[in-house]
Amino acid sequence: MNAQEGAVGAMERIAKKIAPHSLSPNLKDYDKESRAFSWEGARGQLDGLPDGSLNIAYEAVDRHLLKGRADKVAIRWLSKSGSRKDITYGQLAEDTDRFARLLTNLGLNPGDRVFSMLGRVPELYIAALGTLKAGMVFSPLFSAFGPEPVKTRLIIGEAACLITSAPLYRRKIASIRNELPKLEHVLIIDPGEDELPEGLHGLPALLSQTEADFQTVATDPEDMALLHFTSGTTGTPKGAVHVHAAVIAHHVTGQYALDLHEDDIYWCTADPGWVTGMSYGIIAPLTNATTMIVNEAEFDVDQWYDVLEKERVSVWYTAPTAIRMLMKAGKERLEGRDLSHLRFMSSVGEPLNPEAVVWSDEAFGMPFHDNWWQTETGGIMIANYASMDVKPGSMGKPLPGIEAAIVDNRNGNVTVLEEPNEIGELALRTGWPSIMRAYLNNPEKFEKCFVGEWYLTGDLAVQDEDGYFWFVGRADDVIKSAGHLIGPFEVESSLIEHPGVAEAGVIGIPDERMGEVVKAYVTLNSGFQWSEELRKELIGFARKRLGPAVAPREIEVRNTLPKTRSGKIMRRLLKARELGLPEGDISTLESDES
Ligand code: ATP
Ligand code: MG
Repeated sequence: MNAQEGAVGAMERIAKKIAPHSLSPNLKDYDKESRAFSWEGARGQLDGLPDGSLNIAYEAVDRHLLKGRADKVAIRWLSKSGSRKDITYGQLAEDTDRFARLLTNLGLNPGDRVFSMLGRVPELYIAALGTLKAGMVFSPLFSAFGPEPVKTRLIIGEAACLITSAPLYRRKIASIRNELPKLEHVLIIDPGEDELPEGLHGLPALLSQTEADFQTVATDPEDMALLHFTSGTTGTPKGAVHVHAAVIAHHVTGQYALDLHEDDIYWCTADPGWVTGMSYGIIAPLTNATTMIVNEAEFDVDQWYDVLEKERVSVWYTAPTAIRMLMKAGKERLEGRDLSHLRFMSSVGEPLNPEAVVWSDEAFGMPFHDNWWQTETGGIMIANYASMDVKPGSMGKPLPGIEAAIVDNRNGNVTVLEEPNEIGELALRTGWPSIMRAYLNNPEKFEKCFVGEWYLTGDLAVQDEDGYFWFVGRADDVIKSAGHLIGPFEVESSLIEHPGVAEAGVIGIPDERMGEVVKAYVTLNSGFQWSEELRKELIGFARKRLGPAVAPREIEVRNTLPKTRSGKIMRRLLKARELGLPEGDISTLESDES
């Protein structure tokens, strides 16, 4: 069996299609709308500012006031302690005006970098949009980072201002403050009674002295707006630069891939410290005038189900790692709940195992719709649409306006592989508005991503005869064993079909005869005990599904798998630990026990 047959075999195994559920999707006829689509047309859905300027915050907030939506709830914030706060579009316009005015009063200028390090509290959302209004660049940092990763990012990002909380400042910034000479202002959202040291400002007091009058800066569509660091799954995180024009992609992909309608109650579970939490946890839901839920609490099965039920969430966007935890908890946890408002569920961040799609269809009466994109692409690029059959395990089809291909990339020559089901690198034809404009301070790495008109994603995939794309693995993670190319995703997906396996991480380990052999690490579902018998059973189980050439030779159990804070399995770390090699950049590693 060669590599291609391996991939085709997997597709046959999971070829069950799930019919669409949604009633009136925005994207009704994929082929027709793809043919008719143009980015100019998409821009026409936004209002823009005079003389061709475009500002993300204006499109997300202020333009709605002219359309009679001032009293509509924009953000429904659910605090950790169980309280609830509604912020209307009108209030959000005022709060963000005031924040923009405050930044300007501090002497900051358009183009200056404003960073946040906050949990999911209202100030974060106001700061993000207020910064954009002021024509400044916003860069959100995940609040659980330690001082070192925070310092590196503030330095490469040339942060001029940071908004954070008193406890986070004490724990993470105070000790590194004197190493950050460019950081002029630190805004503390909860300063307390004590006097603040030099250079620190209490935000509430400053805001109370600031007028809420501000004219959104008429930014050029190509002006830098956002700086996002990648997840660090494959190495040191890169700082991807995005511009205001990205809002065109956020807006239309929100409509097509998430099927956002104005009357939706929408919940994106991603933290704005990651690109998903910004593009689809702030911008797209607001440009599309939905009411969005912000849940301050961390993952908890019953609390999440409470949010879905009590808040009457209609569109839900989450990630495979959370979905696998819901699966592990069992369908029983959904019993007696009224989730009748839920009509569309979507997932991103990692490959979504076919088992998870089938499970969700049984548990919720609708499947999760997987979609694929990267920090670098700024917005969703490949998706399963509400109007289309879902093939569990597939990422779906390219968004209207996006041309994706499977290519062979050798020595700087890119050839498009025309035959279906051939494994190659996933490439996207450049020209969409949310593509990154740079990796900050790393032009060599940036240039390497582009060959001719193609942006090379670093992911391997295949396209089937119906045009659906299937993820095979990251180019770095693909295993070469006795001439076969094996994608870890396929092996992991087959292992988690076993009732005992909750999660799996698969790597290749060097082998003299085979080049590499497949090794798997698994975590178990409750009720299962690790034993020699279970190990053998799992190897047999995988062999039956995948054949001996692809199935793991070795399987070990772990309590948890090493993951990034955004929830991605870090295979490179499993490998480094297995081989006793240096762990590399682990700034985004969630604490783990392996
Ligand atoms: P780094 O680039 O720092 O190693 P990262 O690639 O994980 O980290 P992100 O930009 O957050 O950083 O993630 C994008 C990557 O996540 C994609 O290149 C892909 O490998 C993976 N990914 C995202 N969505 C999907 C999906 N639906 N199916 C498969 N893989 C996905
Ligand atoms: Mg990446």
